[in-house]
Formats: sequence, C-alpha cells, structure tokens
Amino acid sequence: MELLDGRALSKQIKSEIAKEVDLLKATGKDIPHLAAILVGENPASESYVRNKVRSCEEVGFESTLIRKDESITEQELLEIVDRLNANDDVHGFIVQLPLPRHIDPIKVTLRIDPKKDVDGFHPNNFGKMAQGLDCFLPATPYGILLLLERAGIETNGKHIVVMGRSNIVGTPISILLSRKSNVGNATVSLTHSRTKNLTEFTKKADIIIAALGIPEFLKADMVKEGVVIVDVGINRVEDSSKKRGYRLVGDVDFEGVGAKASHITPVPGGVGPMTVTALMLNTLKAVKMVD
Ligand code: NAD
Repeated sequence: MELLDGRALSKQIKSEIAKEVDLLKATGKDIPHLAAILVGENPASESYVRNKVRSCEEVGFESTLIRKDESITEQELLEIVDRLNANDDVHGFIVQLPLPRHIDPIKVTLRIDPKKDVDGFHPNNFGKMAQGLDCFLPATPYGILLLLERAGIETNGKHIVVMGRSNIVGTPISILLSRKSNVGNATVSLTHSRTKNLTEFTKKADIIIAALGIPEFLKADMVKEGVVIVDVGINRVEDSSKKRGYRLVGDVDFEGVGAKASHITPVPGGVGPMTVTALMLNTLKAVKMVD
C-alpha cells in the first residue's frame, strides 16, 4: 500500500506558488491577498482558518482574518461581504462555513463576487465547472484532482464511487471526474444516504472518494483488492489518551481498508492540506485575473 501524502505534496506545490509570488514581487505586480471571515468560535473552523492563514504566510501572500462574534446579524455579514467585494486590495476571500443558524449560507455565498470566490462555491463558478469552462474550482475537489494527478493515478475509463453528495465535495468531484478532461473520463457512481446496497457499488470501485462525515464508515469487506482510496472525512472522535481529548479520523477504516488498497490518503495529512493548497492556487489565479 502506498500513502497518498497530501502534506508532502502540498509542501511541494506551495514552494512552486512561493516562487511565482517572488516573481510577482520582482516585477512589481500585486501580491495575492486572501481574506477570511470567521464567525463564532467553532473549534474545527478556527483550526481550518488558522491553517489557511499560515499557508498564506508560507507562500508569501497577504492575508486578513476578519473575526466576528456569533451574534453578528445576517445583514452585518452581508455588508462585510460587500466591502470585500469592493476592496481592490483583496483578490479573493472566503466565508468559513458553517455559519450560525440565523444566517443563511446560500444568501451569503450568492453575495460574493464570483471573481473573488476562491472557494468556488458561487453558482456562477459551479455552473462553469460543470460545463468545463474556466473558473475557480471548489477547493476540496480541486485538491483531490491535484493529488490524483501528481500521484499518477489513472482515472480514464475507471469506475469511481463517490460517497456523499454535498455541494462542496461529493457533487462537484463526481462532475469533475466524469468530465472529458485530464484526471477525468471516469465512470462515476454518486452514492448518498438513500443509496441501496452501497457495498455492491463500493466493491466494484477502482477508486473510492469517501466524503460522508461518518467516522471509519468504509470497512475492508466493502472494497476490492487494489482499490485507490481518497478519504475526505475529518471527524473528531473522543480519545482520553490524547491531551486535547479527541483524535481525528476519516470516513475510512484506515487499517483495514489500507491493507487491501493500492493507495490511500491518511487523515490527517491527506485531503485536508490539499484543500488549503488548492485555495492558495485559486487566490493566485484571482490576482492574475485582475492583471
Ligand atoms: P455533508 O456532511 O454535508 O453531507 C454528508 C453526505 O454524506 C450527504 O450527502 C449524505 O447523503 C451522504 N451520506 C450519508 N450516509 C451515507 C451513506 N451511508 N452512504 C453514502 N453517502 C452517505 O458532507 P461534506 O460537507 O462533504 O463533508 C463530508 C466529510 O468531509 C466531513 O467529515 C467533513 O468534515 C469532511 N470535509 C473535509 C474537507 C477536507 O478538506 N478534507 C473538506 C470538506 C469536508
């Protein structure tokens, strides 16, 4: 079994991005500037945003973190989005999800200028993605494509089973992998909570993308020998042996499935870092679009 090491690959791609930033600086061009809005104190969101800001520092981007209390109104948040849309110094920004229940995430996403939507969540970008047009690809699916491409995993003609149909992972990655393009041309089965006889699908899969958010759901008896596993899940499970009281596990039983797989992503250190790196690439693309 070979590890699909997202952490190592991210480091490599980030050093490539840093070189591009050096070139931008040397030629007097704008330095990419990513802003992030973080509402409330969700510990997972705090950690994701921290990683994003740290990555900006690593590649030489400017970053701005806008922290707001959970009590912020929807209108106040929309006004911040408007200000970022209008701010020429900011090339791209994200609103970290989930938002408090009184704020409609769809309304907020729709308000973001698609040209600055480096998370690729706006329907304008999503629609372009579906039609194979130039756009910001959603960060996690983009990170998965890069991981498969750089690891030399063939997708052409393969049967890929995607588990989970969220708008940010399952649905877009199923579209991307079935497109007529590089790291595409696969026959994709998109499975979800209503899928009957799931194991019949997973057992036939050459590649499985697990994005359902259920700790260690995919077991060894559900997959065939030699399968390629991309585990998107990030789940906190209680663990009193850890100082912080929990450990992170994916949606795949790493030990059991790993023993049968030809390639597998670890959690943490697989898709997570690739998502952040894809966000950096989108921000670099945003600044080039302005020039
Ligand atoms: P979600 O939580 O919005 O939805 C879960 C999906 O799983 C639904 O579409 C549901 O239909 C499907 N599902 C439920 N039971 C299923 C079953 N038995 N078989 C097949 N599908 C089933 O999904 P999400 O936001 O894409 O998150 C999924 C996981 O990925 C979570 O653990 C999340 O934390 C993680 N995640 C990781 C990254 C990353 O960068 N690594 C990014 C986004 C999400």
